[in-house]
Amino acid sequence: SVRVRFAPSPTGPLHIGGVRTALFNYLFAKKHGGVFYLRVEDTDQTRFVPGAESYIFEALEWLGIAPDETVGKNEKFGPYRQSERKAMYKQYADQLIDSGWAYYAFDTAESLDAMRKEAEAAGKTFIYNHSVRKELDNSLSFSREKVTERIANGEQYVVRFKTPVNEILELNDIIRGDIKFDTNLLDDKVLFKSDGMPTYHLANIVDDHLMETSHVIRGEEWLPSLPLHHLLYKAFGWNAPEFAHLPLILKPIGNGKLSKRDGDKMGFPVFPLEWKTEEEISSGYRENGFFPEAVINFLALLGWNDGTEQEIFSLEDLVQKFDLNRIHKAGAKFDPEKNKWFNHQYLQKQTDESLAETFQKDVINRIGKCDFSFFEMIKIISMIKERAHFVNEFWDLANYFFEAPTSYDEKAAKNWKEETPFLMQQVIAELNKIEDFTSVTIETRLKEWMMTNEIGTGKVMQPLRLSLVGALKGPHLFDIIEMIGKTETIKRIEKAVQ
Ligand code: GLU
Repeated sequence: SVRVRFAPSPTGPLHIGGVRTALFNYLFAKKHGGVFYLRVEDTDQTRFVPGAESYIFEALEWLGIAPDETVGKNEKFGPYRQSERKAMYKQYADQLIDSGWAYYAFDTAESLDAMRKEAEAAGKTFIYNHSVRKELDNSLSFSREKVTERIANGEQYVVRFKTPVNEILELNDIIRGDIKFDTNLLDDKVLFKSDGMPTYHLANIVDDHLMETSHVIRGEEWLPSLPLHHLLYKAFGWNAPEFAHLPLILKPIGNGKLSKRDGDKMGFPVFPLEWKTEEEISSGYRENGFFPEAVINFLALLGWNDGTEQEIFSLEDLVQKFDLNRIHKAGAKFDPEKNKWFNHQYLQKQTDESLAETFQKDVINRIGKCDFSFFEMIKIISMIKERAHFVNEFWDLANYFFEAPTSYDEKAAKNWKEETPFLMQQVIAELNKIEDFTSVTIETRLKEWMMTNEIGTGKVMQPLRLSLVGALKGPHLFDIIEMIGKTETIKRIEKAVQ
């Protein structure tokens, strides 16, 4: 049965790549009626960031892809936090030492540094592998007693994996197909440290096994770890799960991996739910007014499509259609403009009632009151929402309904001619005559008046809009006039004429 996991290290903001990994695991699990669990990989205590973990949970909750099992929830194979599993790992490191798959190494930071420098001087990259192993008498040939003695003397040690020599590993990845790895190019990675903590590699493999993980779906940056992970399963005598490495997420322009700097440059965050410090939750996708449905939708298309032109997918849709075999190998370009387009689409799908409710609160927040009825707010929403990508743009698109303009757009003010004040006075006179102050009547009456007096529409409409809105923007002018009402309309024209 399918059991997949999202295994974040809570060392900082949850970024786009991480959330996509979570989503793809979620989709795969749901598609196959399996389990999606979340394991917190917090063995690296030096990189611990308070608040990071709860933020991850909150983010997945917000997106609607919360795990089935995790810390505090259906802890079938708990604990789900690696720091709480600490005591478990030593026996596995010992097991590998006993079976000859791992060894103690006592290198000091200085000696490692010296080796690195020596390799660099010779124009090579330093790999801690069999050649180092052979030269160091503190490694494999060490007697048990000697090792025990050194440890007892308080010497710092690590346990390293003993990578086999001269082997070509032929491994499979669901997305990338068959890949060959030359074991001579691999490091003897550290598995365990004298502080009693496992490294990522050991803890990850042990837990994936104990938690009965069927598939490992993760970012491409972990592909280089694939041979080591396979060898670890072999060393333990366990069946390895299947692997799928998701393509990189690329910068919108040019090549290379997407970085936070790209987000800053675009004036838009790359992180869906980012915070800068423990307290400060800033500029994430949620905070910027993205709908979770829109975020899910654009994340799903980062490296996947269903083979058609379809772009709008609900979470349910995705669960049905998701297929690991349809994930591309090539990196997926991150397109912030397209992401906004998705949000626009989902904004149009919201009911006017729910948008009006949000907007009403926003208005009260900004100016301390909202003079329009809920019904009128719904009408305002229906006039402006087509132009909005985000709910938080409503105010900029509709502020003139609530407040008279305090300034006039300079460029547009060029439409204000010598005869304009005179024409506006006449508009006021016409408006004063209208009893049934509705958009249609106002439009008919003003147009009649312009026709009879042979006044060009532009000469009236543009200055009128400028007087009411402060700029040449906004929906149908007569709808605006009806909404703000006769008294306010006339007041604004009078002010502009002054
Ligand atoms: N803790 C790793 C990370 O932060 C997990 C990698 C994996 O899925 O194996 O991405």
